Amino acid sequence: MVDLLLIRGNIFTPIDDGKPKTLKRMDELASIEDGAIAVKDGVIVDIGKTDDLFKKHRDTKNIVDANFRAVLPGFVDPHTHALFVGTREKEFDMRLAGKSYMEILNAGGGILNSVKRLRSATIEQLRDELKKRIKTFFEYGTTTLEVKSGYGLDFENEIKMLTAIALTKKETPMDIAATFIGAHAIPEEFKDKKEEYVKLVVERMIPYIAEHKLAEFVDVFCEEGVYTPEETLRIIEAGLKHSLKAKIHADEIASIGCSELALKTKLSSCDHLLKIKESGIEALKQSGTMATLLPITAFSLKEEFADGRRLVDSGVGVALATDFNPGSSYSESMPFAITLAVLNMGLTPREAIVASTLNSAYVLGREKLVGSLEVGKQADFVLLKENSYLFIPYHAGVNPIYAVYKRGERVFSAGC
Ligand SMILES: [Zn+2]
Repeated sequence: MVDLLLIRGNIFTPIDDGKPKTLKRMDELASIEDGAIAVKDGVIVDIGKTDDLFKKHRDTKNIVDANFRAVLPGFVDPHTHALFVGTREKEFDMRLAGKSYMEILNAGGGILNSVKRLRSATIEQLRDELKKRIKTFFEYGTTTLEVKSGYGLDFENEIKMLTAIALTKKETPMDIAATFIGAHAIPEEFKDKKEEYVKLVVERMIPYIAEHKLAEFVDVFCEEGVYTPEETLRIIEAGLKHSLKAKIHADEIASIGCSELALKTKLSSCDHLLKIKESGIEALKQSGTMATLLPITAFSLKEEFADGRRLVDSGVGVALATDFNPGSSYSESMPFAITLAVLNMGLTPREAIVASTLNSAYVLGREKLVGSLEVGKQADFVLLKENSYLFIPYHAGVNPIYAVYKRGERVFSAGC
């Protein structure tokens, strides 16, 4: 007997064919009108027409009628800074008054403001902050979440952040991929001795984090005035040597050769890419590195959006993420990211859905578990309020999610 039978859904899903979706394949969603999904032990064991599945599994006690709502895979958000203490709405106001992100950072604001607050928090406080935010992620349909460190910026506090993430993992149904980004900014104490800090990251933090399995990924803010491509490469190589996977923040504010690193080392993803040049696109394409685009950040900073259309047409696999953080993207909403990607980055609604599900599952190395609705994958799915995925970008600015299921268990319902 199955544990759950979802019936009468309009199912829309990418079909995994063993590699990230690129080019025309990114614009395809399989659909089953009046479809059903059977779930056993949190895994999809059958999927097809309601009539067929109802005959086979009608003895189950738990039947959910989707009432012809659209059913999609749960969103996979592969880039967030969701663990922080305190919001930064005053800086938001400063930015609106014309101060640039770098000006705010140089005035001791930005990331360094979050660092100060984080350092005085306990692990339990951090866990509670993250758990609270995970509830909102579920409300907006995210069922797999990457969370970065990077507001500690010293050994003790980076480890504290990753420990809080590990603790949270045990207490929530959310799948969390932890990323170590000790090189997120240059800490105040190392302002004039960045080399010493890079050494600390490479020689002390990474080996400790890998040994204690506190992170899956290592990440670096590769950017003008932050970490150079050479420093980034050293940090990434140290992570890879210790069996972490790697991703970088690249070409966000300036193009200084960060995405080009994809040809020199093994990266799962290059993220942001507002300023990517042809050589960067070529490097991503040749190396098969995913481009993770963060439209809410560009929107919030009033920047020009990354050219998603050009990346897709160039044959690069594109994923979408919220970049949720208190400074430049204070939104947990993947539906909002999808809306912006469609309206401002030139992606089709289907490409934006694929970028938010299967392709982002590839970024996190979870493509065998999540990202599409297929037999053998986790029963992570969302029901929309309406009957088509098109309502996500079309009904803009409104939460389109009706209910969310994680491994076959309902974790959010708009009705209660
Ligand atoms: Zn980021």
